[in-house]
Amino acid sequence: MDFGFTRDQIMLRKSMREFVDKEIKGEYARDLDDDLSKMFIDESMWQKIKDLGIFAASVPEEYGGLGGSIIDDVIISEEFARGSTAVAMSFGATTGFGARSILFGGTEEQKRLYLPQIAEGEIKFAMAVTEPAGGTDLLGAITTTARPEGDHFIVSGQKIYITNAHMADYILTLVRTDETTRKKSKSLTLFLMPVKDNPGVKIVPMKKFTIKGASACEVFFDNAKVPAENMVGELHNGWYVLLKTLNHERIIVAALTNGIGQAALEDMVAYAKKREAFGRPIGQYQSIQHKIADTAMELELAKLITYKAAWLLEAGKPCHMEAVMAKVFSSEMAFKAGTRGLDIFAGYGVTLECDMQRYFRDSRQCTFSPISNEMARNFIAEQFGLPKSY
Ligand SMILES: Cc1cc2nc3c(=O)[nH]c(=O)nc-3n(C[C@H](O)[C@H](O)[C@H](O)COP(=O)(O)OP(=O)(O)OC[C@H]3O[C@@H](n4cnc5c(N)ncnc54)[C@H](O)[C@@H]3O)c2cc1C
Repeated sequence: MDFGFTRDQIMLRKSMREFVDKEIKGEYARDLDDDLSKMFIDESMWQKIKDLGIFAASVPEEYGGLGGSIIDDVIISEEFARGSTAVAMSFGATTGFGARSILFGGTEEQKRLYLPQIAEGEIKFAMAVTEPAGGTDLLGAITTTARPEGDHFIVSGQKIYITNAHMADYILTLVRTDETTRKKSKSLTLFLMPVKDNPGVKIVPMKKFTIKGASACEVFFDNAKVPAENMVGELHNGWYVLLKTLNHERIIVAALTNGIGQAALEDMVAYAKKREAFGRPIGQYQSIQHKIADTAMELELAKLITYKAAWLLEAGKPCHMEAVMAKVFSSEMAFKAGTRGLDIFAGYGVTLECDMQRYFRDSRQCTFSPISNEMARNFIAEQFGLPKSY
């Protein structure tokens, strides 16, 4: 057993940390969060991230990338989220829903077409699975349909809460293509829906109080055309292609929340050393020390399960349970870290110039998205042979 990172991974973390400390942490992250007209990183930040070369990390060398592993995705996501969850999501939607989903289920032609553009940071992706009828009972809720017409499919229906859809060039979209079969998981197909210049697609960002620098959008498909060649995986088999992408997404959300937890821990330690009460730094009081110790312990455990899940997925081994465990444990760890952080920062903690309130808000979203922690616990219990409770 080896708990060490490779030399390249250590270098990747170091350069990510330097970039985030210089360009994102502090003013940029606060401004992106405060200004609801943005809901996405601006073009100059996208360009800086492009210049870092990390869009290529998720893409194999033969398609113009650096051939990085899912461990690299985790390192990048964790370090971005240490500065801003919104920036991490702006980056991760493209590398996760774009590069990884195409690698998991795309044809050779799709890989040759899309992956070099992703590696260059030229195109952006989102993923639309959830519908207004509910995200937890996903298979039951999907009513968006696609019917074949010539060399296209025609899509009608609605998706909701879709991260960064308003900026995407393509939305990986799950639709029902067979309304006759009783087995719902065999009635769904995945498409890369082109967004630009597609009159059948309408996107409306929603205002929210968590991860405000990344949008959650309503997406309306009104007889929207998608070329048949944009199908990812086979007809009616989209659910099974999607499962690997969902595991990757859960691991990345665990990594994001570990980044939030890391930021909260660093900030609470610094404040505990600086802020004084009764003539002493508050870090001298045991109640403050224990909050810091609990956060440090839980953060360490959250990172361990996240890296284990990433390692399993990269190795092509089953990781459904570990991915879900990482997502539940890490998101709850980060929310507890934000809560303890607010206890330690007290009055200053709730002001918008203090990042702790943002960690508290941003981590909360991750306890029910992309899968609710209740549903995740159902999956974990079912792995032990217990019956489905729903
Ligand atoms: C900001 C944000 C961004 C998002 N981004 C995306 C995205 O990019 N793409 C996308 O496709 N989706 C996205 N989602 C959707 C997200 O995946 C869903 O919100 C999530 O799956 C929960 O679905 P729901 O909100 O419809 O809750 P519901 O399904 O209505 O659940 C409500 C409550 O009931 C509980 N519940 C339901 N069934 C059970 C059960 N069997 N056992 C125990 N408890 C149960 C849930 O745990 C939850 O507490 C996003 C959501 C948000 C808020």
